[in-house]
Formats: sequence, C-alpha cells, structure tokens
Amino acid sequence: MIKEKYLDRLIVKPGKTLSLTDFNTGWAQSEALREAGKNAVKQRAAELLEENRAALAEAQELLWADKRYSILVILQGMDTAGKDGTIKHVMSGVNPQGCQVMSFGIPTKYELDHTFLWRFWKHMPRRGEIGIFNRSYYEDVLVPKVHPVILEGQHLPPGYGSDAFWEARYEDIRAFERHHHQNGTIILKFFLNISKKEQKERLLSRLKTEKKHWKFSLSDLTERQYWNHYQAAYEEAMFQTSHGDAPWHVIPADYKWVARTLVADIIVRAISRLDLRYPETSVERMKEIEKARIQLESE
Ligand code: AMP
Ligand code: MG
Repeated sequence: MIKEKYLDRLIVKPGKTLSLTDFNTGWAQSEALREAGKNAVKQRAAELLEENRAALAEAQELLWADKRYSILVILQGMDTAGKDGTIKHVMSGVNPQGCQVMSFGIPTKYELDHTFLWRFWKHMPRRGEIGIFNRSYYEDVLVPKVHPVILEGQHLPPGYGSDAFWEARYEDIRAFERHHHQNGTIILKFFLNISKKEQKERLLSRLKTEKKHWKFSLSDLTERQYWNHYQAAYEEAMFQTSHGDAPWHVIPADYKWVARTLVADIIVRAISRLDLRYPETSVERMKEIEKARIQLESE
C-alpha cells in the first residue's frame, strides 16, 4: 500500500479553500519519487495496482457477505481525464454481481421535471455493493455554474443562478451525502486532475486515431475554452463539499498509471478500515447444518 502521509496530501482539507494550481498533475509527487526515476516508479505503480486489484476483489466479497456497508465511488474530471479507463482498470477483478457502474450525461427532459438529486437517489449502491458514479450530481454545480444560461430551460423557481441558489445546492449535496454516510455508505470522491496541455494531447489523439473518433465530441473543444471557469467551479465545489465523511481526493492524472494506482489504493484502504466480517453461524444454525450434512451423506 502507498504511505498514508503521501495519500493525505491528495485530500481536500475540510473548511479550507483550495487552488488547483497547488496540486501537481504529473508523476513525481515528491523528491523521493523524482530521485527514484520515472521507470522505477511506473514499475512499482504497476505492481501496486495489481496487488490492490486482488485485494479489492477479496474485500468486495467480504463487503457483500457483511451486508452492512456500501461504497460509493464518485469520479469527476474534465473531458479526457481518464474516468472510463480508471473504472476499467481498477474494477477489472471485481465480481460484477457486487458492483454497479452508472454513467451520467446531460439530464433528460423527464429528469429535469424532478429536483437535481432525484436521478442519483435510485442508483445509490445497495448494502454490500460497490457503486461507481462516472460523473454525478457534482455536474449540477459545474456545468450550469459555468454556463448559467442552461438553468433557464430547467423550470426552476425564481432565484436560480444567485449565490444563495448555489449555496443551497452545496448544502443539499452535503445533506444527501451525510444521510447516506450515516446509513452505512462510504463515499469516496475523486477529481482526476489533468493539465490543460495533457488534455490537448488526448483530444488530438482522439482526432488522429480512427478507432478513437467515436470518443470525440465537438463540445469537448467548446468546453475546453472555459477551462479556467471549470477549474474555479471545481475548486468551489470541492471546498464546499469535502468533509471527513465524504472527502475529495485530487488525483494527479496526466499519467494514467499514476491515477489508477492511487484510486485503487484509496478504495482498498477505505474498505479495509471497516470492521467487515462474515456472518457468524449461530448454535441453532450449526445444528441445522450438521443435520443436513448427515442426511445428505446417508443418501
Ligand atoms: P460523457 O461523459 O463524455 O458521456 O459526456 C457527458 C456530458 O454530459 C458531459 O459533457 C457532461 O458535462 C454532461 N452533463 C452531465 N451531467 C450534467 C448536468 N447535470 N448538466 C449539464 N450537463 C451535464
Ligand atoms: Mg465526452
């Protein structure tokens, strides 16, 4: 596992404003890592990811048997930040029965007829399950924050777009997360932090590789022009909603292997902190099992 003190630096500290410029997007997060060299760090990261994948598969089975907790992983990031790839690589060893991935796009007309949290409620993971939100209700304090005109088509009561309106949304999110946390959901939030330069490379690669054309959307270029607005909206959202029960992690994501290794490690660590156990067999049940065994053997 990665050292706790190193992971601690990725957490958005509750109650403190933050600037994303203070967070490194690259692979060399410390002097020690830089000295070790990129190849050595990459090699170690691959080993760690493998170890954590196996640990996650095991932990998930125990989570399922224990049936008291669920895990919600929220992945956010700019276009091309690597949300899909992270899900694929981190979750590849987990039993699909105990895991659910939900991707959220632009809300439909029907979804807009409800409050902004409605469509997320019904996809919260069940007890024993790991749920992954590929984008989430955080989009509702990002996209319309950057483009307030969007709110005009959303049938909202008067006052939308004001400071009080955004404050209320952050408050709703905090309350929503508190409710789920108090009822056994462990919420882990990840912002995959890429640099603007790296996004350009990834978008270009989508344009230059035929097999990747399908991933490209013209709106990716439009939104890129609002890069600084999005950074500011993310900073505010994370400041408003990072708390002990549902912390935000700013994950350096210019190198996919860095992001995947860190996310896997943080999830495994969070599950291993729970007092999970296989249900105990009662004396009564033990007698039943013994009887069934004897009956079957004497057939
Ligand atoms: P993708 O993740 O590439 O499938 O794109 C989904 C798109 O839906 C992204 O551009 C998101 O920003 C957008 N989206 C998701 N939720 C919302 C929301 N609540 N309001 C506006 N746009 C959203
Ligand atoms: Mg996209």
